[in-house]
Amino acid sequence: MPDIITVEGLSVVYPDGTKAVSDISFGVKEGEFFGFLGPNGAGKSTTIKALTTLLRKTAGKVSVAGYDLDRSPREIRRSIGVLSQETSLDVDLTGRENLRLQGRLQQLHGKILEERIEELLKLVQLEDVGNKPAGRYSGGMRKRLDLASALIHEPKLLFLDEPTTGLDTQSRVAIWEYLEGLNKKQGITIFLTTQYLEEADRLCRQLSVIDHGQLVANGTPSELKAALGGDAITLTIEDSGLRSRAKEILKTIQGLTNISDSEGGIVAYAKNAGEIIADIVTALQASGIRPSFLSISSPTLDDVFLRQTGRRIRSDELSRRETEPFLV
Ligand code: ADP
Ligand code: MG
Repeated sequence: MPDIITVEGLSVVYPDGTKAVSDISFGVKEGEFFGFLGPNGAGKSTTIKALTTLLRKTAGKVSVAGYDLDRSPREIRRSIGVLSQETSLDVDLTGRENLRLQGRLQQLHGKILEERIEELLKLVQLEDVGNKPAGRYSGGMRKRLDLASALIHEPKLLFLDEPTTGLDTQSRVAIWEYLEGLNKKQGITIFLTTQYLEEADRLCRQLSVIDHGQLVANGTPSELKAALGGDAITLTIEDSGLRSRAKEILKTIQGLTNISDSEGGIVAYAKNAGEIIADIVTALQASGIRPSFLSISSPTLDDVFLRQTGRRIRSDELSRRETEPFLV
């Protein structure tokens, strides 16, 4: 499959001097479900805005849907659908009216447009509330209407900027299912950004991890996790003064790799974690160090992020809003 997006050396510097994206390069194959995973402020929205012609890049060569970003921005806009982080809905208009407005902006009219509107309302399961003002929709319903709007002109390439941030679990899972359907059944290429590890893991077949405007890892979620070298062994050591000593001891244990600090403890990886754990405890106790907590788990994308950046993303995920009012 050819690349539908190619990005070489993209940089974006805002007028105030903020370097939001620094010299990133990647490609997205046609039909791919591609993801950008990174915490708040990593540069995800800036990258999407540059790629979708909404923001001027500072440097780099970009082609989207076969068109050069500098030479053919209009053609790019016609070929892509964009779901931005901020809603683009008019809250005074009904769901149907919002879609009609979007459709007209995309030069669709008459029966073709009306049929498309009904098809999309059905896809995102809003046909029953299509005549109610979007202002009365819940957050999840608005996102679904946003998604329908982005699809009105049947784009083959869809950009989604944090489509489920702030949504409750149920709405999030519903969005995931629509997106999987669009990608698998309709062959739409998807570029999605997220700060949710679980979302990236479930949806994205190819993933780039972004932090401080730079790509820190690329691969499939399983490749990225496998590169850590086995299961994650997490030790909590209450006495922070003992942690660096404990790390030194762990380095002498064969089979342990990628030993690093992790919020109040140490994390390391091992293929035979179950067997190695006795060695770890024995070696630490010989130096008078007793971990207060010890666990073995399969590596997650958070471990990948920790390994590359020294920080976890997970805290963002835990603080997310879990409930939202249903207004309809
Ligand atoms: P993300 O979408 O990953 O949360 P953004 O692309 O929004 O990250 O932001 C990347 C960086 O650029 C952040 O440091 C942010 O504060 C900064 N930034 C975003 N928009 C602007 C702007 N209009 N002017 C100056 N700095 C900005
Ligand atoms: Mg953003």
